[in-house]
Amino acid sequence: MQTLKTAIIFFIFSTIIFCKPIFRNGKAAHNKLLVISFDGFRWNYDQDVDTPLLDYLAEIGVKAKYITPPFVTMTSPSHFTTITGRWIEDHGVIHNLMFNPETLQKITYKKTQNMSEWWDNGALPLWITAQNQGLMAGSLHYPGGNANYSGKTVNKALAETPDHPDSDENEWRDNIDIVMKWFNEDGLDFVTLYYGEPDKTGHIYGPETEQRKTIIKQIDRTISYLLEAIEKNKLKDKLNVIITSDHGMTTVKKAPAVQEIRLSNYINFSDTVKFDILDYGGFGMITPKEGKEEELYQVLKDAHPHLKAYKKQEFPERLHYSKHDRVLPILLYGDLGYSVNGRVILYVNKGDHGFDNNEMDMKMIFRAFGPDFKKNYTAEPFDSIHIYPLMCKILGVIPEPHNGSIAVTQDMIFTAVAEEPGETNDNNEKSK
Ligand SMILES: [Zn+2]
Repeated sequence: MQTLKTAIIFFIFSTIIFCKPIFRNGKAAHNKLLVISFDGFRWNYDQDVDTPLLDYLAEIGVKAKYITPPFVTMTSPSHFTTITGRWIEDHGVIHNLMFNPETLQKITYKKTQNMSEWWDNGALPLWITAQNQGLMAGSLHYPGGNANYSGKTVNKALAETPDHPDSDENEWRDNIDIVMKWFNEDGLDFVTLYYGEPDKTGHIYGPETEQRKTIIKQIDRTISYLLEAIEKNKLKDKLNVIITSDHGMTTVKKAPAVQEIRLSNYINFSDTVKFDILDYGGFGMITPKEGKEEELYQVLKDAHPHLKAYKKQEFPERLHYSKHDRVLPILLYGDLGYSVNGRVILYVNKGDHGFDNNEMDMKMIFRAFGPDFKKNYTAEPFDSIHIYPLMCKILGVIPEPHNGSIAVTQDMIFTAVAEEPGETNDNNEKSK
């Protein structure tokens, strides 16, 4: 009798403690999640190369024909949209470079990775939200993973060193081993893993080259290594994996084939420009000297047939980019393939991004597999902002306010997961 009483009390007590469902299909609730980002993996990079493993992933899981990154189609801003579910104008990581138009300071991409003041603007990334709700999170080289958010850091975080070798296949495998250890030995629930390829190869050689095809084959072999590692570490039944990217890549159009954009052909920098972010691919911004904004805008808007120039307040709403305080008063972007050069053409890249996210060359890859994902399921194209509520759903995390919608992505996962109570609410916020 006493034993029965104790059992009932224990049952009631444990129900109170575990207010979330603790079982799913007879297994412990909420599987683990690994998100892998291959920087600059354009949506169709697997179509002119033999990629047996990427093809296999589509059979055992979900494939979207393509997905759309936010504007500006650039590494740090786009990755931070994925991990926060916020448009770039809401999360404030508006460029790869941290800059200050007052002090004229510009900080390189890799140094900016360690500058919390660039990342910590109030939009909480999922690592921290998951940790706040009792889970353990990790970031291996993922942009923003090394910053400090309201005093909190990611449980396990490795940052890229300045001399990090982007293309070393052995190092790629070592990183998978580290992540497996984090899941198995350190008890992490959610990990993001970042690779700097095929972006680097796409920049140096251009996207339509043998070198790019070679690096895609290397990625395919790495996926084979990943699947073996999941099997070896007995994580197959509890680990979901999302493989995606941050933007695509296009061939840079150069003279003499085209007339390149060089702003010093049209404006006098020393008379009109106080500060600029130019010579960084297809997108640029300018702070005019006092009283020069109208003059500068009038010249730039008709300067080159493939250059778009906007005043900040007139920038297209659909791009959800310009409303943040950090965005400079004049914004510029080139038509596909046209770099926005400043005083001289310093630019050496053969491939680039940063262009309008409507352009097919800016679209990117999406694959997902694991116990919660449907098999052999083709998803319609969607915006990467909707990955955030999907990740929250899989992890059983109540989302922060965000701009995505679980309605867009929940068809990829099994109904039992999608319909779990408590976490179905789309905490959807309209963009500012
Ligand atoms: Zn890049």
